[in-house]
Amino acid sequence: MSVPSVPFSEQVNRYFDRAAAHTRHDPGLLAQIKACNSVYHFTFPLKRDDGSIEVIHGWRAEHSTHKLPTKGGIRFAPSVDEDEVKALAALMTYKCALVDVPFGGAKGGVRIDRTRYSQAELERITRRYTFELFSKNFIGTGIDVPAPDYGTGAQEMAWIVDTYAALAPNQIDSAGCVTGKPISLGGVRGRTEATGRGVYFGIREVCKVADDMRALGLAPGLEGKRVVVQGLGNVGYHAAKFLQDGGAVLVALAEREGAIENPRGLDVEQVMAHRRETGSILGFPEARSIPNPAAALELDCDIVVPAALENQITAENAPRIRARIVAEAANGPVTADASEILLKRGILIVPDLFLNAGGVIVSYFEWIKNLSHVRFGRMGKRFEEASNLRILEVVQDLTGRRLEPEVLSRIASGAGEADLVNSGLEDTMVLAYAEIREIARRHDVDLRSAAFIRSIDNIALTYEQRGIFP
Ligand code: GLU
Repeated sequence: MSVPSVPFSEQVNRYFDRAAAHTRHDPGLLAQIKACNSVYHFTFPLKRDDGSIEVIHGWRAEHSTHKLPTKGGIRFAPSVDEDEVKALAALMTYKCALVDVPFGGAKGGVRIDRTRYSQAELERITRRYTFELFSKNFIGTGIDVPAPDYGTGAQEMAWIVDTYAALAPNQIDSAGCVTGKPISLGGVRGRTEATGRGVYFGIREVCKVADDMRALGLAPGLEGKRVVVQGLGNVGYHAAKFLQDGGAVLVALAEREGAIENPRGLDVEQVMAHRRETGSILGFPEARSIPNPAAALELDCDIVVPAALENQITAENAPRIRARIVAEAANGPVTADASEILLKRGILIVPDLFLNAGGVIVSYFEWIKNLSHVRFGRMGKRFEEASNLRILEVVQDLTGRRLEPEVLSRIASGAGEADLVNSGLEDTMVLAYAEIREIARRHDVDLRSAAFIRSIDNIALTYEQRGIFP
């Protein structure tokens, strides 16, 4: 990976400016929308298991408080710094505005390589990080609500909610102080897979449009599309799995240790099992091993899905990308310069703002669940089932035909939590794609600019209707 010459937050601002030029909002208002409202950098000591003391750096950026709470993940990675956190927080603002999730954008990070710490050390880091946020009013159900991101998951979210509840006792809504929690602590079904599932819905929608596919020299539909996925973390793994189930062929998969390629297709479950057994995806049976994972991005395929970190496709490797579609499952995987090169080469970029929004969409559902204190579907599932059965009874009586009991109960079944979450996610992704595609056509711009235009319009509307606090 080559280091981009332009800082990440500057890249996001370039995207913003390019889109803002297609709007008619007051330049001062645009500057306010773009500005990061607050950022908190702190250090704290970690007592390591061997008794030594290490200074840990943590950040939380709240990019936009035009809607509250602010929302965004917490990342554990050696790359974390103030610029990265601010850029990612800005992307959260635009992402939420794009998909009509009523939050401002935020992001947090701890500069650590999590593989160098024991479980007990990670727990101490997470709890202390939460304490630091709490003491500066940077976390709370109506203030700022973290979630998992690169290098964190449900376990860290469990420690966060526990620490928060201890610091703020007797708050009836405290479960909503963080999302991505285990189900037993107020998490929602489908959150773990949400970003990957959203990536699948997004790519499926893109591939559905026959005219757009024809313009790229591809057949319509996901079936048979040759896909490369870079990164098999939570997002990459689930995206690969849903794409495979949806009929795509995974021709290459890449992880830290390298990449594997098989033009006939790789089974992602088997690859993950191989990695668990051997510690690496390399050496997977019947696949060609490629030691440099970055090379996977340049393989011949229809769709390349960078699903790891930012700045993966830069001006350096953009001319060598052979995919027809670059699907941004990660945040900021394509630099602004690279984006221009790819677009000039006629490659379709499906932007991160849209494509990886599934995580925060389902986080929103989890937060609603926490505020309402009831599982989705709990009140209606049986009722729905019973009324469907009544209708089916009438239809059977009228037609004189009887259905098998299993078929009957499958058709009649009411929606449970997972069904509702997945349906809400699918609906949001389908609508968002239709909207950005329409904006792209209207303004004759790429999908990323279209996504930014919609976000900027939505945020500006909030300010315009509400006015600026004196
Ligand atoms: N970290 C995820 C993202 O970048 C999810 C954020 C959230 O759910 O708040 O979108």
